[in-house]
Amino acid sequence: MSKINLTSQIFSLFFLFFAAFSTVQAQNRIDKVLINEAERVTRDSFIYSVQTPKGARVLAVNKPSSKMLNSIDAGLSDLFTVALRNNYSKRLNYSDYTIFIAKADRTINRDNQYSPDIAIGAAQYAGSVYDQGGFVYAAGMVLAYNPCAFVIAEHSKDFQRVSEVVRFEGEHLVLYHNHRKLYNKTADHSQGGGHPILQ
Ligand SMILES: [Zn+2]
Repeated sequence: MSKINLTSQIFSLFFLFFAAFSTVQAQNRIDKVLINEAERVTRDSFIYSVQTPKGARVLAVNKPSSKMLNSIDAGLSDLFTVALRNNYSKRLNYSDYTIFIAKADRTINRDNQYSPDIAIGAAQYAGSVYDQGGFVYAAGMVLAYNPCAFVIAEHSKDFQRVSEVVRFEGEHLVLYHNHRKLYNKTADHSQGGGHPILQ
């Protein structure tokens, strides 16, 4: 091996190392922004980081139960099925999704039903039927589009609801990446319309 060859090999090795390193750094930066946003919205701390059996990433206030994790997978699975039926192809991997599990700010809704929800600033919902006086209770909320992330509330029963909320929040993200026009039309529920959006 000539000296020049060796030098260029070392250089490319160094370059590879550097590229990998800066990817990790960029990833960490994105993570930080995302986690800050989740903490700002929920005022919770997400100290547990785990993966669902199928590979979605979960950040949670408490160690998530296996029922929570399996229900998240089931919700994503339903989402991917309906997305494929609509010929969408982007962001249909479990690993494309980060789900935050926040503390429930209420567990019973106005109809006396078990309904773990998070309270979020009213913003566009001010004055609408969702407005509870400066904030609204939501089953879930999209936090970021790149990477795909949303927050739901911790459940101790009615895990079917977890799957539903995951599927419904996921609809916004799938539409954002696959059908922007429909996304724009359906993103803001204060104008009416709800879930499921995709059939
Ligand atoms: Zn929605």
